[in-house]
Amino acid sequence: MAIAPGFLTDWPWKPLGSFKYAILAPLVVKSIYDFVTTDINTRDSTALLILPGLLVRMLHNQIWISVSRYKTAKGQNRILDKTIELEQVDRERDWDDQIILNALLYYLANYYFKGGQHLPWWRLDGIIIMMMLHVGPVEFLYYWLHRALHHHFLYKRYHSHHHSSIVTEPVTSVIHPFAEHIAYFALFAIPLMTLVVSGTGSVAAMVGYLIYLDLMNNMGHCNFEFVPKSLFVTFPPLKYIMYTPTYHSLHHTQFRTNYSLFMPFYDYIYGTLDKSTDTLHENSLRRKDESPNVVHLTHLTTPESIYHMRLAFASLASKPHTSSIWYLRFLSPITVLTMLIMRVYGKTFVVERNAFKNLKLQTWAIPKYMTQYLMEGEKQTINGLIEEAILEAEAKGVRVFSLGLLNQGKELNNNGELFIRRNPKLKVKVVDGSSLAVAVVINSIPIGTTQVVFRGNFNKIAFYLALALCQKGIQVAVSREEDYKELKSKLKSLDKDGKLVFSRVYTQKIWLVGEGLTKEEQMKASKGTLIVPYSQFPPKQENKDCFYHTTPSMLTPKYLENVDSCENWLPRRVMSAWRIAGMLHGLEGWNVNECGDEVFNIDKIWDASIRHVRNTRVTRDVNYSNAKILEDANYRVEDGDRVEQRCRLRRRRRSYRWSDDDEAHVRSGNSIFASQTVKPNSHQFYLANVAQVVRMLPSKWKGLRIQSGSRASGGTLTHTGDWSNPILAITRQETEDSTLG
Ligand SMILES: [Zn+2]
Ligand SMILES: [Zn+2]
Repeated sequence: MAIAPGFLTDWPWKPLGSFKYAILAPLVVKSIYDFVTTDINTRDSTALLILPGLLVRMLHNQIWISVSRYKTAKGQNRILDKTIELEQVDRERDWDDQIILNALLYYLANYYFKGGQHLPWWRLDGIIIMMMLHVGPVEFLYYWLHRALHHHFLYKRYHSHHHSSIVTEPVTSVIHPFAEHIAYFALFAIPLMTLVVSGTGSVAAMVGYLIYLDLMNNMGHCNFEFVPKSLFVTFPPLKYIMYTPTYHSLHHTQFRTNYSLFMPFYDYIYGTLDKSTDTLHENSLRRKDESPNVVHLTHLTTPESIYHMRLAFASLASKPHTSSIWYLRFLSPITVLTMLIMRVYGKTFVVERNAFKNLKLQTWAIPKYMTQYLMEGEKQTINGLIEEAILEAEAKGVRVFSLGLLNQGKELNNNGELFIRRNPKLKVKVVDGSSLAVAVVINSIPIGTTQVVFRGNFNKIAFYLALALCQKGIQVAVSREEDYKELKSKLKSLDKDGKLVFSRVYTQKIWLVGEGLTKEEQMKASKGTLIVPYSQFPPKQENKDCFYHTTPSMLTPKYLENVDSCENWLPRRVMSAWRIAGMLHGLEGWNVNECGDEVFNIDKIWDASIRHVRNTRVTRDVNYSNAKILEDANYRVEDGDRVEQRCRLRRRRRSYRWSDDDEAHVRSGNSIFASQTVKPNSHQFYLANVAQVVRMLPSKWKGLRIQSGSRASGGTLTHTGDWSNPILAITRQETEDSTLG
């Protein structure tokens, strides 16, 4: 948003949301109807070209988005290192608004001006007129309009919106308030309308001009340099009539230089050229791929997941990938085509770069889908790709290489141990992150829990979880006989108190679940059961009476930069424990492998996760997955007086801190009110669920109840008794909503 939005800032169709495309529907239908019903000798095909033109423009922009995101993640020729965050993605989501606007005006021009109909494919005089009009009035007027927009009066009302993005993405080029767009359209209409009115227009001129505008606009905002210096050396005048990505990037960092549209000569004439333009251009061209310190290796999940990657649809990627999106079905030919391409040419590719304090992070992806990981015949190829990636990381001097999702499968490569065995001299450390996953699950179990049950497939994490829980004196029930026997033989003397039991009942309130949890099992869970996955993939939520945690994950602190997408199904800024584990190994410089049957010290990594990211507060941005949970649930207040008191307290001080008195209150079985202003003190990597709940409180604060550990069953919110983790789980209650607040 502009600093102080002025008149006509919002787009007129903003309230329509995704229905904005429907504006064009009547015009599209009319163009087709007219074409079909008119006599073959007199009918006009120009109007028919507008819709395909619109789609081509969208595709053109999308290609720029993907290439720019890929190139800037790799780092080669990157111009500006500053990061892009989710706010920018949200701000720039409606980049197609201007395409709709242009299409709308094209239809109207086609209907109301004779010169806009029956256009020939080619007409040289029109093209020459168009070029002259662009170089002359368009560039000149744009330059002065742009300078005017930088006058503080207009800047704060309009142009500051575009400049909110210091580091630009290709689509930043079309992110302007509505009024500014009208001005630009009027400007670009000078050559277009001259051709229409003078009857010298042609399809080539009209389409060519639009492609030129889109190409130059995207290029100026792509944040990587590719225009070779030799071009300006062999043909020096070119530098006056063609700008470069570096040229406009400087306008976004310096604000008061390089105002020109696409042709820099007015900056030369009026002395507003940035002196560092040439140097930055050369430096950017010389820049090599970035060498990260930590690499996380993931893979594709479903065929449709390609659209949810940050390299594809930026706005889809900025939301958790939880359910299938209807319009992606229309793209199924492309989906199938990408599957084929991945199969034939598939190479590991860079998806994302992040920075954490001084640590440079990258995420790479293996071009294989989840189903391929389950095929026996694919194992060798996948391991080959992973090994290649590890060796590439080694060559780049990467310190830690973490294996995400199924890349660390027990059957596939024994949690990464295969690669260490094959390459004993590796300097890069391979980390499967099981230790942090175990730590997160343990800390998701409400304090005071006396019994848990394991369901679904058993794995390395389940084993260490069972061990840790037995040692904490919690009874560990295992529901599958073979798992029970295996675990029993492994634990032997470690389970001194005989806490491991075999159980066929479904009465346990805390379920720790691996892959393969069936619907039948879930339906047998009693009301209020808390389901905590230790699996890589979340279980399908079948039982509405249960509360489901996300897969082991944590909310990342603000120091983690360049977060412009969600990790698969996880909410914004939440990262899987496996990925964070790699980061922590890198931050702490532990220099050990964590793979095979071994895990790293669980307490130590948990401690590091908390310590590393001091002073981060839970933010209040929109959250998707848990918003639904809270939307669906009704919460009961058991102790109304107490809540009243809290409300008053909140109004008076706007925040309240957990005290010993509160602790005693919940410990004796009473409920207590938790407000958004209740903040954990120095712990930073919050459990994702904690953060989500705390975040959601402002709107749904009435009726939330934290229950003491001793009465964990049937409560709404379960309290750990530990201030670092004030809220750990919500369970559903089918009672009336309270009307407090
Ligand atoms: Zn500007
Ligand atoms: Zn710009």
